[in-house]
Amino acid sequence: MQEASRRRSRLLRPARAYSGAGRTYSDALETNPRMSSDIPLSQPDITETEIEHVVRVLRSGRLSIGPMREEFESLVARRTGRQFGVSCSSGTAGLHMALLALGVGPGDEVVTTPFSFIASANCILYVNATPVFVDIDPRSLNMDPELVEQAITPRTKAIVAVETFGNPQHMDAYRAIAARHEIPLIEDCCEGLGGAWRGRPVGAFGRVGVFGFYPNKQITTGEGGMIVTDDDRLAETCRSLRNQGRAESTMTPAPGSSPAAGAWLRHERLGYNYRLSEVNAALGVAQMQRLDEIIKRRDEVAQRYMMRLMDHTDVILPTMHTDTVMSWFVFVVRLAHEYTQEERDRIIDGMRRHDVGASDYFPCIHLQPFYRERFGFRPGMFPIAESVSQRTIALPFYNALTERDQDMAVQTLELMISRENIKRT
Ligand SMILES: *Cc1c(COP(=O)(O)O)cnc(C)c1O
Repeated sequence: MQEASRRRSRLLRPARAYSGAGRTYSDALETNPRMSSDIPLSQPDITETEIEHVVRVLRSGRLSIGPMREEFESLVARRTGRQFGVSCSSGTAGLHMALLALGVGPGDEVVTTPFSFIASANCILYVNATPVFVDIDPRSLNMDPELVEQAITPRTKAIVAVETFGNPQHMDAYRAIAARHEIPLIEDCCEGLGGAWRGRPVGAFGRVGVFGFYPNKQITTGEGGMIVTDDDRLAETCRSLRNQGRAESTMTPAPGSSPAAGAWLRHERLGYNYRLSEVNAALGVAQMQRLDEIIKRRDEVAQRYMMRLMDHTDVILPTMHTDTVMSWFVFVVRLAHEYTQEERDRIIDGMRRHDVGASDYFPCIHLQPFYRERFGFRPGMFPIAESVSQRTIALPFYNALTERDQDMAVQTLELMISRENIKRT
């Protein structure tokens, strides 16, 4: 077990984020000793199983549009209790296609949260619709259902709901609101794979759900995404959209044969290349086979943070409703109300100076420069989301995080908080 985890962490080294144009990865390791000694914010959980799957694809010679993609799609669909899975190149691409397939366009309003990763609102801009933000509930950090209800107008064409940091609370409420107003619920479940709310799996609440598999998510394909739905026409449209607008019904020939002559270069609609390669899908298949193990380990790491930080009066811990089966995406704490954004930022910078990964998940979307400019959003419009987002700190969170490193992360956080308190008194 220990040997396995040592091997795993060695395997993981090269997967660390690297941006240094013109230099090789080993150059970077030599000139940046931190890369081998610090505690990163996140790390994928990649074992020999994943490597074997990828190598098998490479040896097969079939690198795109093949059996791995199909297997990955059916694994995710089955796990989320949905009929169809349509893989794609990223969660963002999946959200874009979901809105296109539902016919959301110019003049339409889409209700969504301002407290999320930018992609959950950008997809609304991609189709030239208007995002209508509503403030969040300070406990779950998801949209306040009452405010969602109030935000619906005759122009509302859809709701995009996010399981923030993996928390699925209120998803049934959004689903009921969407049903009452006869508009689709789009579940941006990029942060929640494997979780459940009142017995229903994350991904099964919306007319369509979209997962993302960037390396910091519960499971990764490097880059990748998956649309899940029970709507066969919607699935078909998304398959066509991801494949340059080809008619998908002509794209599944008998094994060994090619599509009918003319079919491959016949484009029925404006499509995209949002396909997931076989190499990425192979990673996904191996990760899905290990999903329970991965989620269990993430939960252990989260519970340990809870224990270590429980008595710290300046730190607010994540809170989950008892009806929640949580699949942890990140571990985000929040400083008490008296802390300012500047103090929070100094604490994050201090942790990073001590080689401990930390981040400000998430700055409010409506306050991002281009949203302000385009829509005239100002501070104060969504006070709860703003107040929360000014005080959050994401802590190192990944499966290979050792108890020693986790204690180090907690101690560094505590040290940085105490420095702010000393300055204040
Ligand atoms: C990660 C994420 C996405 C986008 O996923 P990508 O695969 O990186 O495009 C979308 N929405 C939310 C809420 C996310 O956390």
